[in-house]
Amino acid sequence: MGSDPSIPLPRIVHLQDYAAVLGEAEISLLRSLAARLGGRTVKMVNSTSVGGGVAEILNCMVPLLQDLEVPTRWDVITGGNDFFEITKAFHNALHGAPYESRPADFELFLAVNEMNRARMDFSEDIIVIHDPQPVALVHQREQEKRKKPWIWRCHIDLSNPSPAVWSFLEPWVSKFDATIFSSPNFSRKLSVPQNLFFPAIDPLSEKNRALEPEYVASVLERFQIDPRRPILTQVSRFDRLKDPVGVIRAYKMVKKYMDCQLVLAGGGARDDPEGGEVLAEVREVAGNDPDVHVLELPPWSALEINALQRASTIVIQKSLREGFGLTVAEGLWKKIPVVASAVGGIPSQIIHKQTGMLVHSIEGCAFQIRYLLSNPAVMQRLGENGHEHVKANFLITSSIKSYLVLFILLLEQMKS
Ligand code: UDP
Repeated sequence: MGSDPSIPLPRIVHLQDYAAVLGEAEISLLRSLAARLGGRTVKMVNSTSVGGGVAEILNCMVPLLQDLEVPTRWDVITGGNDFFEITKAFHNALHGAPYESRPADFELFLAVNEMNRARMDFSEDIIVIHDPQPVALVHQREQEKRKKPWIWRCHIDLSNPSPAVWSFLEPWVSKFDATIFSSPNFSRKLSVPQNLFFPAIDPLSEKNRALEPEYVASVLERFQIDPRRPILTQVSRFDRLKDPVGVIRAYKMVKKYMDCQLVLAGGGARDDPEGGEVLAEVREVAGNDPDVHVLELPPWSALEINALQRASTIVIQKSLREGFGLTVAEGLWKKIPVVASAVGGIPSQIIHKQTGMLVHSIEGCAFQIRYLLSNPAVMQRLGENGHEHVKANFLITSSIKSYLVLFILLLEQMKS
Protein backbone atom coordinates (compact mmCIF):
# COMPACT_ATOMS: atom_id res chain seq x y z
CA MET A 1 0.00 0.00 0.00
CA GLY A 2 1.16 3.49 -0.69
CA SER A 3 2.41 6.22 1.57
CA ASP A 4 -0.53 8.36 0.47
CA PRO A 5 -2.19 9.47 3.75
CA SER A 6 -5.62 9.20 2.10
CA ILE A 7 -5.28 5.43 1.90
CA PRO A 8 -6.32 3.52 5.00
CA LEU A 9 -3.75 1.35 6.72
CA PRO A 10 -4.00 -2.24 5.50
CA ARG A 11 -5.93 -4.68 7.65
CA ILE A 12 -3.93 -7.67 8.70
CA VAL A 13 -5.78 -10.69 7.33
CA HIS A 14 -4.90 -14.33 7.06
CA LEU A 15 -6.29 -16.36 4.22
CA GLN A 16 -6.29 -19.36 6.52
CA ASP A 17 -9.09 -17.74 8.52
CA TYR A 18 -11.32 -18.16 5.45
CA ALA A 19 -10.98 -21.95 5.50
CA ALA A 20 -13.97 -22.22 7.81
CA VAL A 21 -16.16 -20.53 5.17
CA LEU A 22 -14.57 -21.87 1.97
CA GLY A 23 -12.96 -25.18 2.85
CA GLU A 24 -9.26 -26.10 2.81
CA ALA A 25 -9.25 -27.13 -0.88
CA GLU A 26 -10.17 -23.63 -2.03
CA ILE A 27 -7.48 -22.07 0.16
CA SER A 28 -4.78 -24.35 -1.21
CA LEU A 29 -5.91 -23.66 -4.80
CA LEU A 30 -5.52 -19.93 -4.16
CA ARG A 31 -2.05 -20.49 -2.68
CA SER A 32 -0.93 -22.57 -5.68
CA LEU A 33 -2.17 -19.95 -8.13
CA ALA A 34 -0.45 -17.16 -6.19
CA ALA A 35 2.80 -19.17 -6.10
CA ARG A 36 2.72 -19.31 -9.92
CA LEU A 37 3.23 -15.55 -9.93
CA GLY A 38 6.63 -16.05 -8.30
CA GLY A 39 6.63 -12.80 -6.33
CA ARG A 40 5.44 -10.60 -9.22
CA THR A 41 4.11 -7.30 -7.90
CA VAL A 42 0.76 -5.69 -8.61
CA LYS A 43 -0.46 -2.10 -8.58
CA MET A 44 -4.14 -1.24 -8.21
CA VAL A 45 -5.27 2.33 -8.95
CA ASN A 46 -8.67 3.90 -8.37
CA SER A 47 -10.09 7.31 -7.53
CA THR A 48 -11.14 7.10 -3.88
CA SER A 49 -9.95 5.26 -0.80
CA VAL A 50 -13.32 5.47 0.95
CA GLY A 51 -16.96 5.37 -0.10
CA GLY A 52 -18.44 3.20 -2.79
CA GLY A 53 -18.00 -0.34 -3.90
CA VAL A 54 -14.56 -0.12 -5.53
CA ALA A 55 -12.87 1.15 -2.35
CA GLU A 56 -14.77 -1.52 -0.43
CA ILE A 57 -13.45 -4.27 -2.73
CA LEU A 58 -9.86 -2.97 -2.74
CA ASN A 59 -9.90 -2.70 1.05
CA CYS A 60 -10.67 -6.42 1.20
CA MET A 61 -8.67 -7.66 -1.76
CA VAL A 62 -5.32 -5.92 -1.26
CA PRO A 63 -4.59 -7.39 2.21
CA LEU A 64 -5.58 -10.86 1.00
CA LEU A 65 -3.23 -10.61 -1.98
CA GLN A 66 -0.49 -9.55 0.44
CA ASP A 67 -1.18 -12.59 2.59
CA LEU A 68 -0.89 -14.73 -0.57
CA GLU A 69 2.58 -13.21 -1.03
CA VAL A 70 1.53 -11.25 -4.09
CA PRO A 71 2.98 -7.83 -3.14
CA THR A 72 0.23 -5.39 -4.02
CA ARG A 73 0.24 -1.63 -3.81
CA TRP A 74 -2.96 0.43 -3.90
CA ASP A 75 -2.71 3.99 -5.16
CA VAL A 76 -5.44 6.60 -5.41
CA ILE A 77 -5.36 9.37 -7.99
CA THR A 78 -5.72 12.91 -6.73
CA GLY A 79 -7.65 15.76 -8.32
CA GLY A 80 -9.60 18.87 -7.41
CA ASN A 81 -13.37 19.26 -7.17
CA ASP A 82 -13.48 20.37 -10.81
CA PHE A 83 -11.95 17.04 -11.87
CA PHE A 84 -14.38 14.99 -9.74
CA GLU A 85 -17.35 17.01 -10.99
CA ILE A 86 -16.30 16.11 -14.53
CA THR A 87 -15.77 12.43 -13.69
CA LYS A 88 -19.14 12.29 -11.91
CA ALA A 89 -20.78 13.81 -15.01
CA PHE A 90 -18.98 11.15 -17.08
CA HIS A 91 -20.19 8.48 -14.65
CA ASN A 92 -23.80 9.64 -14.95
CA ALA A 93 -23.48 9.96 -18.75
CA LEU A 94 -22.03 6.46 -19.04
CA HIS A 95 -25.11 5.31 -17.14
CA GLY A 96 -27.29 6.96 -19.78
CA ALA A 97 -27.88 10.48 -18.36
CA PRO A 98 -27.95 13.40 -20.84
CA TYR A 99 -24.52 14.92 -21.34
CA GLU A 100 -23.44 18.17 -22.92
CA SER A 101 -20.02 17.66 -24.40
CA ARG A 102 -17.44 20.33 -23.45
CA PRO A 103 -13.90 20.05 -24.88
CA ALA A 104 -12.50 21.84 -21.80
CA ASP A 105 -13.75 18.95 -19.62
CA PHE A 106 -11.90 16.41 -21.70
CA GLU A 107 -8.74 18.54 -21.57
CA LEU A 108 -8.91 18.88 -17.78
CA PHE A 109 -9.58 15.15 -17.42
CA LEU A 110 -6.45 14.34 -19.42
CA ALA A 111 -4.35 16.97 -17.64
CA VAL A 112 -5.22 15.54 -14.19
CA ASN A 113 -4.52 12.01 -15.40
CA GLU A 114 -1.19 13.16 -16.79
CA MET A 115 -0.30 14.91 -13.54
CA ASN A 116 -1.02 11.70 -11.63
CA ARG A 117 0.91 9.62 -14.15
CA ALA A 118 3.94 11.84 -13.74
CA ARG A 119 3.92 11.59 -9.93
CA MET A 120 3.18 7.85 -9.66
CA ASP A 121 5.66 5.04 -9.67
CA PHE A 122 4.78 2.24 -12.09
CA SER A 123 7.58 -0.16 -11.26
CA GLU A 124 5.18 -3.04 -10.45
CA ASP A 125 4.87 -6.01 -12.80
CA ILE A 126 1.10 -5.88 -13.34
CA ILE A 127 -1.08 -2.78 -13.38
CA VAL A 128 -4.85 -2.76 -12.75
CA ILE A 129 -6.71 0.51 -13.32
CA HIS A 130 -10.22 0.69 -11.87
CA ASP A 131 -13.01 2.59 -13.64
CA PRO A 132 -12.87 5.57 -16.00
CA GLN A 133 -11.42 8.23 -13.69
CA PRO A 134 -7.76 7.06 -13.98
CA VAL A 135 -8.11 5.40 -17.41
CA ALA A 136 -5.59 7.68 -19.18
CA LEU A 137 -2.78 6.54 -16.86
CA VAL A 138 -2.39 3.84 -19.49
CA HIS A 139 -0.37 6.42 -21.41
CA GLN A 140 2.47 5.15 -19.21
CA ARG A 141 2.31 1.79 -20.99
CA GLU A 142 3.64 3.40 -24.16
CA GLN A 143 6.44 5.13 -22.27
CA GLU A 144 7.92 1.92 -20.94
CA LYS A 145 10.27 -0.45 -22.72
CA ARG A 146 9.37 -3.40 -20.48
CA LYS A 147 6.12 -5.08 -21.54
CA LYS A 148 3.79 -5.79 -18.65
CA PRO A 149 0.06 -6.43 -18.39
CA TRP A 150 -2.17 -3.38 -18.09
CA ILE A 151 -5.74 -4.28 -17.15
CA TRP A 152 -8.79 -2.01 -17.08
CA ARG A 153 -11.34 -3.12 -14.47
CA CYS A 154 -14.68 -1.48 -15.24
CA HIS A 155 -17.18 -1.61 -12.36
CA ILE A 156 -19.94 0.36 -14.07
CA ASP A 157 -22.74 -0.48 -16.47
CA LEU A 158 -21.65 0.53 -19.98
CA SER A 159 -24.64 -0.95 -21.79
CA ASN A 160 -26.05 2.43 -22.81
CA PRO A 161 -23.29 5.04 -22.56
CA SER A 162 -23.40 8.61 -23.78
CA PRO A 163 -21.72 8.44 -27.23
CA ALA A 164 -19.74 11.63 -26.52
CA VAL A 165 -18.17 10.28 -23.33
CA TRP A 166 -17.65 6.76 -24.60
CA SER A 167 -16.03 7.88 -27.86
CA PHE A 168 -13.60 9.93 -25.76
CA LEU A 169 -12.79 7.05 -23.39
CA GLU A 170 -12.78 4.14 -25.83
CA PRO A 171 -9.37 4.89 -27.43
CA TRP A 172 -7.85 4.86 -23.92
CA VAL A 173 -9.56 1.60 -23.01
CA SER A 174 -8.24 0.08 -26.24
CA LYS A 175 -4.66 0.65 -25.12
CA PHE A 176 -4.98 -1.93 -22.30
CA ASP A 177 -4.02 -5.59 -22.65
CA ALA A 178 -7.28 -6.81 -21.13
CA THR A 179 -10.52 -5.49 -19.66
CA ILE A 180 -12.83 -6.81 -16.94
CA PHE A 181 -16.58 -6.19 -16.71
CA SER A 182 -19.11 -7.18 -14.02
CA SER A 183 -21.83 -8.48 -16.35
CA PRO A 184 -21.96 -9.69 -19.97
CA ASN A 185 -24.52 -6.92 -20.59
CA PHE A 186 -22.01 -4.21 -19.65
CA SER A 187 -19.38 -5.02 -22.24
CA ARG A 188 -18.76 -2.94 -25.37
CA LYS A 189 -17.38 -3.79 -28.75
CA LEU A 190 -13.66 -3.48 -28.08
CA SER A 191 -10.44 -4.44 -29.79
CA VAL A 192 -9.02 -5.80 -26.50
CA PRO A 193 -10.08 -9.01 -24.71
CA GLN A 194 -12.93 -8.72 -22.22
CA ASN A 195 -13.31 -10.83 -19.08
CA LEU A 196 -16.28 -11.30 -16.78
CA PHE A 197 -15.57 -11.06 -13.03
CA PHE A 198 -18.29 -10.69 -10.45
CA PRO A 199 -17.53 -8.18 -7.71
CA ALA A 200 -17.54 -9.72 -4.28
CA ILE A 201 -17.75 -9.19 -0.56
CA ASP A 202 -15.43 -10.20 2.24
CA PRO A 203 -17.28 -12.41 4.73
CA LEU A 204 -14.77 -11.65 7.50
CA SER A 205 -14.52 -7.88 7.09
CA GLU A 206 -16.05 -5.51 9.63
CA LYS A 207 -18.84 -4.91 7.12
CA ASN A 208 -19.87 -8.55 6.93
CA ARG A 209 -18.59 -10.58 9.87
CA ALA A 210 -20.92 -11.99 12.49
CA LEU A 211 -21.80 -9.55 15.28
CA GLU A 212 -22.89 -9.95 18.86
CA PRO A 213 -26.64 -9.27 19.19
CA GLU A 214 -25.82 -6.83 22.02
CA TYR A 215 -23.73 -4.73 19.63
CA VAL A 216 -26.51 -4.71 17.02
CA ALA A 217 -28.96 -3.62 19.73
CA SER A 218 -26.61 -0.84 20.86
CA VAL A 219 -26.39 0.56 17.32
CA LEU A 220 -30.18 0.65 17.00
CA GLU A 221 -30.39 2.40 20.35
CA ARG A 222 -27.75 4.94 19.32
CA PHE A 223 -29.74 5.83 16.20
CA GLN A 224 -33.07 5.67 18.05
CA ILE A 225 -34.44 2.90 15.86
CA ASP A 226 -37.10 0.70 17.45
CA PRO A 227 -36.01 -2.97 17.39
CA ARG A 228 -39.60 -4.21 17.92
CA ARG A 229 -41.02 -2.80 14.67
CA PRO A 230 -40.07 -3.73 11.07
CA ILE A 231 -36.99 -1.95 9.74
CA LEU A 232 -36.49 -1.29 6.02
CA THR A 233 -32.93 -0.24 5.16
CA GLN A 234 -31.10 1.10 2.14
CA VAL A 235 -27.35 1.67 2.54
CA SER A 236 -25.99 3.82 -0.29
CA ARG A 237 -24.05 6.92 -1.15
CA PHE A 238 -26.54 9.80 -1.48
CA ASP A 239 -26.65 9.58 -5.26
CA ARG A 240 -29.70 10.12 -7.49
CA LEU A 241 -28.97 6.87 -9.30
CA LYS A 242 -29.54 5.05 -5.98
CA ASP A 243 -33.02 6.67 -5.91
CA PRO A 244 -33.22 7.43 -2.17
CA VAL A 245 -36.27 9.62 -2.81
CA GLY A 246 -37.96 6.68 -4.56
CA VAL A 247 -37.24 4.58 -1.47
CA ILE A 248 -38.99 7.12 0.76
CA ARG A 249 -41.99 7.13 -1.59
CA ALA A 250 -42.15 3.32 -1.49
CA TYR A 251 -41.92 3.41 2.32
CA LYS A 252 -44.78 5.94 2.46
CA MET A 253 -46.95 3.62 0.34
CA VAL A 254 -46.20 0.70 2.66
CA LYS A 255 -46.74 2.79 5.76
CA LYS A 256 -50.36 3.49 4.81
CA TYR A 257 -51.09 -0.17 5.51
CA MET A 258 -48.33 -1.48 7.77
CA ASP A 259 -46.25 -0.14 10.59
CA CYS A 260 -42.55 0.11 9.68
CA GLN A 261 -39.47 2.30 9.92
CA LEU A 262 -37.11 3.37 7.15
CA VAL A 263 -33.34 3.73 7.48
CA LEU A 264 -31.43 5.49 4.71
CA ALA A 265 -27.78 5.22 5.65
CA GLY A 266 -25.03 6.69 3.56
CA GLY A 267 -21.89 8.71 3.47
CA GLY A 268 -19.88 10.52 0.87
CA ALA A 269 -17.09 9.49 -1.44
CA ARG A 270 -14.19 11.73 -2.44
CA ASP A 271 -15.00 11.14 -6.11
CA ASP A 272 -18.73 11.96 -5.72
CA PRO A 273 -19.32 15.69 -5.28
CA GLU A 274 -23.13 15.47 -5.65
CA GLY A 275 -23.74 13.85 -2.25
CA GLY A 276 -24.59 17.00 -0.25
CA GLU A 277 -27.22 18.16 -2.72
CA VAL A 278 -28.91 14.76 -2.85
CA LEU A 279 -28.83 14.44 0.95
CA ALA A 280 -30.64 17.79 1.22
CA GLU A 281 -33.34 16.57 -1.22
CA VAL A 282 -33.71 13.37 0.80
CA ARG A 283 -34.12 15.25 4.08
CA GLU A 284 -36.75 17.47 2.52
CA VAL A 285 -38.80 14.55 1.17
CA ALA A 286 -38.39 12.66 4.46
CA GLY A 287 -39.92 15.66 6.27
CA ASN A 288 -40.39 15.24 9.99
CA ASP A 289 -41.55 11.61 10.01
CA PRO A 290 -39.90 10.20 13.16
CA ASP A 291 -39.85 6.76 11.56
CA VAL A 292 -37.58 7.86 8.70
CA HIS A 293 -33.96 7.77 9.82
CA VAL A 294 -31.62 9.52 7.41
CA LEU A 295 -28.15 8.67 8.72
CA GLU A 296 -25.08 10.42 7.43
CA LEU A 297 -22.27 8.09 8.35
CA PRO A 298 -18.51 8.73 8.37
CA PRO A 299 -16.26 6.45 6.29
CA TRP A 300 -15.23 4.37 9.31
CA SER A 301 -18.79 3.05 9.89
CA ALA A 302 -18.41 -0.50 8.59
CA LEU A 303 -19.46 -2.10 11.88
CA GLU A 304 -22.46 0.21 12.21
CA ILE A 305 -23.54 -0.57 8.63
CA ASN A 306 -23.11 -4.26 9.33
CA ALA A 307 -25.32 -3.89 12.42
CA LEU A 308 -27.96 -1.87 10.57
CA GLN A 309 -28.11 -4.47 7.78
CA ARG A 310 -28.34 -7.33 10.31
CA ALA A 311 -31.08 -5.55 12.26
CA SER A 312 -33.13 -4.97 9.11
CA THR A 313 -36.34 -6.81 8.35
CA ILE A 314 -35.80 -6.07 4.66
CA VAL A 315 -32.83 -4.58 2.80
CA ILE A 316 -33.74 -2.36 -0.15
CA GLN A 317 -31.60 -1.34 -3.13
CA LYS A 318 -33.86 0.67 -5.39
CA SER A 319 -31.19 1.90 -7.81
CA LEU A 320 -32.14 3.40 -11.16
CA ARG A 321 -28.80 2.29 -12.63
CA GLU A 322 -26.21 0.19 -10.91
CA GLY A 323 -22.78 -1.25 -11.50
CA PHE A 324 -22.96 -4.37 -9.39
CA GLY A 325 -24.61 -3.28 -6.16
CA LEU A 326 -22.42 -4.72 -3.40
CA THR A 327 -25.03 -3.72 -0.82
CA VAL A 328 -27.29 -6.43 -2.25
CA ALA A 329 -24.66 -9.13 -1.66
CA GLU A 330 -24.09 -7.70 1.83
CA GLY A 331 -27.77 -8.05 2.70
CA LEU A 332 -28.05 -11.52 1.18
CA TRP A 333 -24.95 -12.73 3.04
CA LYS A 334 -26.62 -11.70 6.30
CA LYS A 335 -29.71 -13.76 5.36
CA ILE A 336 -31.85 -10.64 5.15
CA PRO A 337 -34.50 -10.64 2.39
CA VAL A 338 -33.60 -8.08 -0.27
CA VAL A 339 -35.96 -6.08 -2.49
CA ALA A 340 -33.95 -4.48 -5.29
CA SER A 341 -34.29 -3.02 -8.76
CA ALA A 342 -33.69 -5.23 -11.76
CA VAL A 343 -30.81 -3.06 -13.01
CA GLY A 344 -27.07 -3.50 -13.60
CA GLY A 345 -25.54 -6.41 -11.72
CA ILE A 346 -28.46 -6.84 -9.33
CA PRO A 347 -30.24 -9.59 -11.35
CA SER A 348 -27.04 -11.69 -11.15
CA GLN A 349 -27.49 -11.64 -7.40
CA ILE A 350 -31.25 -11.78 -7.12
CA ILE A 351 -33.02 -14.65 -8.77
CA HIS A 352 -36.55 -13.33 -8.52
CA LYS A 353 -38.57 -15.04 -5.77
CA GLN A 354 -35.65 -17.38 -5.04
CA THR A 355 -32.88 -15.25 -3.55
CA GLY A 356 -34.80 -11.97 -3.26
CA MET A 357 -37.37 -9.83 -5.02
CA LEU A 358 -36.66 -7.82 -8.17
CA VAL A 359 -38.68 -4.67 -8.77
CA HIS A 360 -39.12 -2.20 -11.62
CA SER A 361 -40.87 0.77 -10.00
CA ILE A 362 -41.64 2.52 -6.73
CA GLU A 363 -45.06 0.86 -6.68
CA GLY A 364 -43.48 -2.55 -7.32
CA CYS A 365 -41.02 -1.94 -4.51
CA ALA A 366 -43.84 -1.05 -2.08
CA PHE A 367 -45.85 -4.08 -3.23
CA GLN A 368 -43.01 -6.54 -2.61
CA ILE A 369 -42.20 -5.03 0.78
CA ARG A 370 -45.84 -5.43 1.86
CA TYR A 371 -45.92 -8.97 0.52
CA LEU A 372 -42.78 -9.94 2.42
CA LEU A 373 -43.80 -8.24 5.66
CA SER A 374 -46.98 -10.33 5.55
CA ASN A 375 -45.09 -13.57 4.81
CA PRO A 376 -42.30 -14.21 7.33
CA ALA A 377 -41.73 -17.75 6.04
CA VAL A 378 -40.97 -16.40 2.54
CA MET A 379 -38.58 -13.85 4.05
CA GLN A 380 -36.73 -16.59 5.85
CA ARG A 381 -36.48 -18.77 2.73
CA LEU A 382 -35.18 -15.88 0.60
CA GLY A 383 -32.61 -15.08 3.27
CA GLU A 384 -31.30 -18.64 3.44
CA ASN A 385 -31.16 -18.98 -0.36
CA GLY A 386 -29.53 -15.58 -0.71
CA HIS A 387 -26.75 -16.52 1.69
CA GLU A 388 -25.98 -19.71 -0.26
CA HIS A 389 -26.01 -17.80 -3.57
CA VAL A 390 -23.45 -15.31 -2.26
CA LYS A 391 -21.33 -18.07 -0.77
CA ALA A 392 -21.19 -19.86 -4.12
CA ASN A 393 -20.60 -16.84 -6.34
CA PHE A 394 -19.81 -13.52 -4.73
CA LEU A 395 -17.12 -13.95 -2.09
CA ILE A 396 -13.87 -12.01 -2.41
CA THR A 397 -11.86 -15.20 -2.68
CA SER A 398 -13.61 -16.10 -6.00
CA SER A 399 -12.72 -12.70 -7.30
CA ILE A 400 -9.08 -13.10 -6.22
CA LYS A 401 -8.95 -16.47 -7.98
CA SER A 402 -10.15 -14.83 -11.20
CA TYR A 403 -7.51 -12.09 -10.90
CA LEU A 404 -4.71 -14.59 -10.26
CA VAL A 405 -5.68 -16.68 -13.29
CA LEU A 406 -5.85 -13.59 -15.50
CA PHE A 407 -2.45 -12.38 -14.26
CA ILE A 408 -0.88 -15.79 -14.99
CA LEU A 409 -2.39 -15.97 -18.47
CA LEU A 410 -1.37 -12.43 -19.44
CA LEU A 411 2.19 -12.90 -18.16
CA GLU A 412 2.46 -16.12 -20.15
CA GLN A 413 1.13 -14.45 -23.29
CA MET A 414 3.69 -11.68 -22.95
CA LYS A 415 6.56 -14.13 -22.70
CA SER A 416 5.65 -15.76 -26.01
N1 UDP B 1 -21.09 2.05 1.82
C1 UDP B 1 -20.49 2.46 3.00
N2 UDP B 1 -20.90 3.61 3.55
C2 UDP B 1 -21.89 4.35 3.03
C3 UDP B 1 -22.49 3.94 1.82
C4 UDP B 1 -22.06 2.78 1.24
O1 UDP B 1 -19.60 1.79 3.53
O2 UDP B 1 -22.22 5.37 3.61
C5 UDP B 1 -20.60 0.81 1.22
C6 UDP B 1 -21.66 -0.26 1.08
O3 UDP B 1 -21.81 -0.99 2.28
C7 UDP B 1 -21.05 -1.07 -0.07
C8 UDP B 1 -20.39 0.01 -0.93
O4 UDP B 1 -20.15 1.11 -0.07
O5 UDP B 1 -20.05 -1.92 0.42
C9 UDP B 1 -21.30 0.46 -2.07
O6 UDP B 1 -21.11 -0.38 -3.13
P1 UDP B 1 -22.21 -0.53 -4.26
O7 UDP B 1 -21.66 -1.47 -5.27
O8 UDP B 1 -23.52 -0.93 -3.63
O9 UDP B 1 -22.42 0.93 -4.85
P2 UDP B 1 -21.43 2.08 -5.40
O10 UDP B 1 -21.35 3.08 -4.29
O11 UDP B 1 -20.12 1.45 -5.73
O12 UDP B 1 -22.15 2.64 -6.58
